[in-house]
Amino acid sequence: MSELSQINTIIQCRCPRCRKGKLFTDSPFSLRFGRRLNIHCPVCNLHFEREPAFFEGALYFNYALNVAIMVSSGVATYVLLGDPGPYVYFGISASMVVLLVTFTSRLSKSMMLHFFGGVDYQPDSYPEGEKKN
Ligand SMILES: [Zn+2]
Repeated sequence: MSELSQINTIIQCRCPRCRKGKLFTDSPFSLRFGRRLNIHCPVCNLHFEREPAFFEGALYFNYALNVAIMVSSGVATYVLLGDPGPYVYFGISASMVVLLVTFTSRLSKSMMLHFFGGVDYQPDSYPEGEKKN
């Protein structure tokens, strides 16, 4: 498997240290467990929650992503439907935010860990006992 760039690692919700382990236990399409984080990286054993309540900072990223979705869906509504009423704008924008909540939640946690986790990329990071020679 080729190495992922940092942008691809963030989008695919992978570990910032090894870029291989998944941050989440299930797929984003799992309605029940789509946003459940692994406690440790399954590949390099990095503890993902860097400090207590670390991922509460992801709410700011989530807010920014939702604003971007609302603005872009508003612009798309204007271009495609030709300036409909305000309820149509609100309905389409709110629907897009609700439909994409699983993806924005996962992406915001991944961004928080990558930007503020204080973890550098170490391609040969393996837990003790599994180190390859
Ligand atoms: Zn890892």
